[in-house]
Amino acid sequence: MALIRAVKIKKRYLLGLAMFGVLAFQLVQIALDRWEEKNIAAMSYVLANKIIVVDPGHGGRDPGKIGVSGVPEKEINLEVSKKLATVLRQMGATVIMTRETDVDLSDSSSSGWKSKKQQDLTRRTDMANEKNADLYISIHCNAYTGPREHGAQVFSQPGSEDSKSLAECIQSEMTGSLKNTTRKAKQVDYFALRKTKMPATIVEIGFITNHKEEELLRDPLYQSRVAWSIAAGIIKYYSDKVSSDQQNTDDYNKEIIKTFQQQPGHHIPAP
Ligand SMILES: [Zn+2]
Repeated sequence: MALIRAVKIKKRYLLGLAMFGVLAFQLVQIALDRWEEKNIAAMSYVLANKIIVVDPGHGGRDPGKIGVSGVPEKEINLEVSKKLATVLRQMGATVIMTRETDVDLSDSSSSGWKSKKQQDLTRRTDMANEKNADLYISIHCNAYTGPREHGAQVFSQPGSEDSKSLAECIQSEMTGSLKNTTRKAKQVDYFALRKTKMPATIVEIGFITNHKEEELLRDPLYQSRVAWSIAAGIIKYYSDKVSSDQQNTDDYNKEIIKTFQQQPGHHIPAP
């Protein structure tokens, strides 16, 4: 009898504990949702009037680099770019994506790998130039012969001060948010960066030749964190730019600075 009662009490105790667990989980979830809503609300429209071209590198017949698990770079680039486009639109920007599906931009009739690639890249940069975009952000994954290399790194065109500061802002937010890169923003002459007429960067979001990093880059939650940190870098860029150019500080720009400065340590936390 005593044993049965003990089991019954234990059962009731466990049931209570489980219910408490579910309730606690729901409360935490609600709090997180509110926090995220507040965060997004605080950032809404700070990028209004900005046209940002988001370019998911490669696509279609061009897979880009191949990760250690066999995933092609083009897939990760597209997923992160879509997430970045969503965040930037929530911040009020007009986002143009150079591709939204698994395609490349060259004509199917054009022949030769090199001329196809040239046509593909030219169409991406032409799109940004024709739309008079304010920023061009190209998303890629890095690769190396050895598995050790890791960490996101942002590139800009030598000689473009605006692009340099954009790259440094994105690098600093990625470093602070992702906490797994010690790389510094670098100036390198790339076709896409040379041909675009607006501040432009190539964001190498990590190495798909590194097992741990490739696994992270395939994880949708990590992809969101990457997207968020790039968006945070863009806000930092506009905030820094406006503070260094006081004559340009109208109400809208003040709003950008305020939004950025409201974040603890001037660092926008990832959701
Ligand atoms: Zn690439």
